[in-house]
Amino acid sequence: MLLMVRRQAPSAYIVLDPGHGGQDPGAVAPDGTREADLNLAQALTLKEYLVALGYRVGFTRTSDVYVPLSERIAMARRMGARLFVSVHHDTPTASRPGVYYSPHPGSEELARTVAAALGEGAWVRPSSASRFGRLYIDDFPGPAILVEFGPTRPTSREERIARAQAVASPIAEFTRRWTA
Ligand SMILES: [Zn+2]
Repeated sequence: MLLMVRRQAPSAYIVLDPGHGGQDPGAVAPDGTREADLNLAQALTLKEYLVALGYRVGFTRTSDVYVPLSERIAMARRMGARLFVSVHHDTPTASRPGVYYSPHPGSEELARTVAAALGEGAWVRPSSASRFGRLYIDDFPGPAILVEFGPTRPTSREERIARAQAVASPIAEFTRRWTA
């Protein structure tokens, strides 16, 4: 059964982008929990489920290093990525998860799919509604979303698994339709 799933999977390449890293910790919780660390842990867990579904997954970083935003997009392009999923956590006071989408066709649909899978009243917003007026995911030449998985606070492996399981299938399903 697993072999069948793998054979049917498209050659689409998903790039996961754990936000921040190195000198840029992202949001920091009162107890010192760094968003950059949460992002990497969540992205690595998500990868396990996407790989199990038969998808080739790339990363913009797999350790605690600083990678400039423009370089993240350039890396994804070099990997031939069809889909760009940036993994972030929100400020410690955030109450809900949410998903930003780039202006590229398909991004909004993917964002809505992922937000619905996340539940918890997750919001969906265009990147133009972010406090920067735009986001670096806008520079990716394909569907791109930036997921705020929840507030920056200590998360358990069980939480990361639950979140990864929730969004892996919707992402894989979208990829299959988008690249069909
Ligand atoms: Zn962030």
